[in-house]
Amino acid sequence: MADILSGLESMGLGNLSKVDLFNDKVKQPEKKKEQQPEKPKEVRPEEKDLIYERSVECACCGHQFKEKTIRMGKAKLVSQDIDLRPRYAEVDSLKYNITACPVCGYAALTKDFSNLSPGQARMIKEKISVSFSGLKYEAEIYSYDEAIARNKLALVNSVVKRGKISERAYICLVLGWLTRGKYDSMAPDIPGRNKLIESLKNEENEFLKKAAEGFTEALHKESFPICGLEESTFFYLLAALDYETGNYKESMRFVEKILTNKALPERIKDKARGIKEAIAEITASGKE
Ligand SMILES: [Zn+2]
Repeated sequence: MADILSGLESMGLGNLSKVDLFNDKVKQPEKKKEQQPEKPKEVRPEEKDLIYERSVECACCGHQFKEKTIRMGKAKLVSQDIDLRPRYAEVDSLKYNITACPVCGYAALTKDFSNLSPGQARMIKEKISVSFSGLKYEAEIYSYDEAIARNKLALVNSVVKRGKISERAYICLVLGWLTRGKYDSMAPDIPGRNKLIESLKNEENEFLKKAAEGFTEALHKESFPICGLEESTFFYLLAALDYETGNYKESMRFVEKILTNKALPERIKDKARGIKEAIAEITASGKE
């Protein structure tokens, strides 16, 4: 847990960098929904062409601000990683998933930004706004580092406002995905590239472990759909995260849950079989 929230100091929130992500005394209900990618287009635009500024009123302090937003309809989904991370042709949509108030420091997944009770707003003002030092961006688009910092800010906000465990786990998952996006997009001639990638892969692994831990916990405390995912996709995601982080026994537990459920479609069973085979190969070659 030590370094998972490093970087919050630059926003004045170093005091929250050691916060316990999933362990609350009390929690409050929140709504959840997933975005879906949309249809492709012929002329491929650049990232900055897909971004526009949307006006937002802060649900915590009432301040009006502009937020960079992505026109998802123009982005082309090309593939999905084993853990369901979407890949778009010209933009990493994950960099634009957070809405953050530059004045009070309230940040959340954009789809949840307006869901804030007066009690939660008070907690954010008391624990975040008092020491928050602001957000400034120069460029038209967000860098990976900026996107990672925004997600960390949303994560501590979720802890402070006692958001759902699954919401925190999902933000951890996005942090892992963004870290992967960061090393994937690294220039080939950057000095010390291999070392950097190795350290980013370790960070990614920590985020994915936290995501798996939070989602597993959410399984006991929340009912489906969790994070907009129905049971089969959720179990598949857990199987994938446990597989990626080397927790093969847990991964197989979820794979078996999927494979033994007669009601599930072949599509998801095929994906689960893919994980089962990968684990069998690793175990057989003694790499475990
Ligand atoms: Zn605000």
